[in-house]
Amino acid sequence: MIYHTVLEAVGHTPMIRLQRMTHEEDAQVFVKLEGVNIGGSIKTRTALMMIEQAQKQGKIHKDTILVEPTSGNQGVGLALVGAVKGYKTIIIMPDSVSEERRKIVKQYGAEVILVHDAGNIGDCIQACVAKAKQMAKEDTRVFVPQQFENENNIKAHKEYTAQEIVEQVNGPIDGFCSGIGTGGTITGVGQVLKAKNPKIEIWAVEPEKAAILSGRPVGTHLQMGIGDGLIPPILDQDIYSQICIISDEEAIYTAKQLACQEGLLCGISSGSNVAAALKLAKKLGKGKTVVTILPDTAERYYSTPLFDSD
Ligand code: PMP
Repeated sequence: MIYHTVLEAVGHTPMIRLQRMTHEEDAQVFVKLEGVNIGGSIKTRTALMMIEQAQKQGKIHKDTILVEPTSGNQGVGLALVGAVKGYKTIIIMPDSVSEERRKIVKQYGAEVILVHDAGNIGDCIQACVAKAKQMAKEDTRVFVPQQFENENNIKAHKEYTAQEIVEQVNGPIDGFCSGIGTGGTITGVGQVLKAKNPKIEIWAVEPEKAAILSGRPVGTHLQMGIGDGLIPPILDQDIYSQICIISDEEAIYTAKQLACQEGLLCGISSGSNVAAALKLAKKLGKGKTVVTILPDTAERYYSTPLFDSD
């Protein structure tokens, strides 16, 4: 089969059962490997959905400039979609996100504007959002998908990520956990899984140094892509029953274990998700099934402590 463009090949990522990191007496844990998605992360799905819906609704045309504030992967996804569809793309991101993300965005032909992170990721992301809004005001060609507010972000996960999970597991799902960046994944996947099993236990995962949903102070942390220091407008705060706070150390340790015990080379927030999933699996116990997501590939973290040798 030949795809007409790379965009047709987005999604359809594998689901893998953890073998060595789980315990006999705990629930089984399935992880969805988004690092092998086109663009290397789950966010290509949302970039594609937001742009295709905007095209359908006549919100963008051939002269449109895509501008997006993002802590990283959404920028990569949009730069990729912009490249294929021929839209000039400008990504506004904190200077605290990994250098690899900047380089990849540029490689797809997009421009990068960096905003200084002075130690509060929330303030920095808000500054990125404000910059995008100002650019839209000054130039009518600018279209800002605004992933934190765009319902099509959730739609991508309801129609694709969640449907794939349901088909792949093909049986009861008792637990699901996900870190929150925009909240698109936990809201979209969570709503579909909860409709199928109202008793499902869904956990939100927060970095210790930006646990805003838990009312804690926001600083800067290493779990890039989650814990952006704001409560995203599209997040369904009724979808999760518990918040699981994960430290940077535990996230990185777990991501390293995923590589050396399971052969899954993935990013730091994948470690956050699996650290939480293992706790949920212990709570639910043998015979139950927990699902979580590995949102991106480790290959955009070479310059971070994920690759520090012990
Ligand atoms: N992990 C990584 C690495 C991400 O880039 C993102 C997207 N911001 C997430 C997790 C969280 O996904 P969502 O925006 O759907 O909450």
